[in-house]
Amino acid sequence: MAIKEFKTESKRLLDMMANSIYTNTDIFLRELISNASDALDKRHILSLTDDRISFDDPKIRIDIDKENRIITISDNGIGMDKKELEDNLGTIARSGSFEFKKDLDEKQEADIIGQFGVGFYSAFMVADQVEVLSKKVNEDKAYLWHSDMNGYEITSGEKEDAGTLITLHIKKNTKEKKYDQYLDTMEIKNLVKRYSDFIRYPIQMMVESYDYKEDGKSEKVNKLETVNSMQPIWKKNKKDIKDEDYENFYMQEYYDYSKPLKTIHYKVEGSTSYTALLFIPSQRPFNFYTNDYKLGLKLYSRGVFIKDEAKEIVSDYFRFIRGVVDSDDLSLNISREILQQDYQMNALKKSVDKKIKSTLEKMLEKEREEYEKFFDAFGSQLKYGCYDGFGANKDVLIDLLMFKSTKEDKYVTLKEYVSRMKEGQNEIYYAAGESVDKIRQLPQMEKVLDKGYEVLYFTDSVDEFLTSIIMEYDGKQFKSILKGDLDLDSKEEKDELERKNEESKDILSKIKEILKDKVSDVRLSSRLKTYPVCLVSDNNLSIEMEKILRQMNQEGAKANKILEINPDHELFAVLKKLDEQGTDISEYASLLYDQALLMAGLELEDPAKYALQVSELMLKALK
Ligand code: ADP
Repeated sequence: MAIKEFKTESKRLLDMMANSIYTNTDIFLRELISNASDALDKRHILSLTDDRISFDDPKIRIDIDKENRIITISDNGIGMDKKELEDNLGTIARSGSFEFKKDLDEKQEADIIGQFGVGFYSAFMVADQVEVLSKKVNEDKAYLWHSDMNGYEITSGEKEDAGTLITLHIKKNTKEKKYDQYLDTMEIKNLVKRYSDFIRYPIQMMVESYDYKEDGKSEKVNKLETVNSMQPIWKKNKKDIKDEDYENFYMQEYYDYSKPLKTIHYKVEGSTSYTALLFIPSQRPFNFYTNDYKLGLKLYSRGVFIKDEAKEIVSDYFRFIRGVVDSDDLSLNISREILQQDYQMNALKKSVDKKIKSTLEKMLEKEREEYEKFFDAFGSQLKYGCYDGFGANKDVLIDLLMFKSTKEDKYVTLKEYVSRMKEGQNEIYYAAGESVDKIRQLPQMEKVLDKGYEVLYFTDSVDEFLTSIIMEYDGKQFKSILKGDLDLDSKEEKDELERKNEESKDILSKIKEILKDKVSDVRLSSRLKTYPVCLVSDNNLSIEMEKILRQMNQEGAKANKILEINPDHELFAVLKKLDEQGTDISEYASLLYDQALLMAGLELEDPAKYALQVSELMLKALK
């Protein structure tokens, strides 16, 4: 029989695979084992309706002949007849949609091969000659397909039982690649474990081991070993799995010393069918917010490993999730449109996201303590998710957010906050700062609390940026008690304040002149009770945001600072009197400003000068 040429597109694919140095060649084994497993499935199905077909001892076997550089993979599946060998192995891309490859560069091509494999042809990544000896069930004759990549031929062959035996003649080592590794039993065993551990049928290999005799001596023997564990935990029936099994799986898989906070094991059937076993860790990985963090989510297709770090199937705001998604429909076949892959991936992602969200919602509702633990670990990630893309995902995430509040120093959701707002309160009050303690001590706090309002503590650097993007919740605007006009007062109180400001016009403009490079305004305010002064910002960038941006080396970011003075504080009355008597008040004005800076957690421009001024005052008072 004459040697036949491969079809053009197959030839191109073959060249691509044989030569691409980017490709992960390990996957050839996964591909061949998957095919063998499919062939066993097909035989199984046939055997159900055809009495002549047995399905007694299904298995896949791998043998290595190091000396002759040969590795064989055999199965007792359905097998192929002559026409099938011709049709199935002589050409690829039967669905005829291989054109998309035209615009891809070598790296992208390699990526596709690596993720989805290209089936049988991936054998040529590691072998320069491939033989397929196959005998179809219920047929008498066997056939041998043989190829050296340039073309192929089919001759009759000798094979006793139905099934397929694939022989790979492993390439010689090159500078880039050590093909010898594929002749190493341990190496192959590891690859089976890594990529094909959950194939339903036993994958057997001869493995060297020691036989211990009664006299204590041992002897080296070769034993047939089933290398794969066959059934993945997520494919087992839920009622057969103990909590401990889940925990062990999780802890081994993710090298985590603590048990997962939540385990989510579920199955979806419908247009997107898959099984998933997901975990929410109980602690934040130390590198969670660095580039080193790797998403612990694996993608499988019918028990066959496809990829680690499967970013495609979960949103970044849920990147804390770990586990496995095993799809029923993801095709391992490159001969489908890449678009379709994207479509499948998107559908998976949507579904996985939805499940995580509903799990969190349920936790929030029914297991508050657990949820708070979760939020301590990963709450910031949800906030970043809300902030990202100018709030594109805020509707998904907003009700999962919590903030500590003045009420009981406990977490509240925005929904809870709004539901218990005081009558007549129209805004959601917050104060941003480094910690709950520091915020609680802010001079601006007293008055708001006196009036009985609840204030959210914004201690996460993202908090205030977040509200500047999402602006409102349930029609209620977010309002910083450290910014702009607070509007807590009655009409009479407002009129009274205006009167006082008018009355003190002169001294206020004098102080403003003294501090002109430092503050944009000086005014009397009703915000204060015990303290004489405070710093607030106008409604744009807040002082806290300025601090954060500075830490991020954005030196240009400046909040518009306003010095507010407590008109009822004795210090103001005294100062006013001094001024009216013609005493120079500039030293005192800058001292007040420095105090306000300190209370706002800002650095003094000249700490030494401040210390001297305070010492002098102390001397005056003490002498
Ligand atoms: P895919 O498996 O994605 O369809 P492949 O190129 O891997 O593509 O295989 C092409 C076809 O060859 C398979 O669909 C199957 O019909 C046949 N085939 C491959 N390996 C085997 C095998 N071990 N036993 C029976 N048929 C096989």
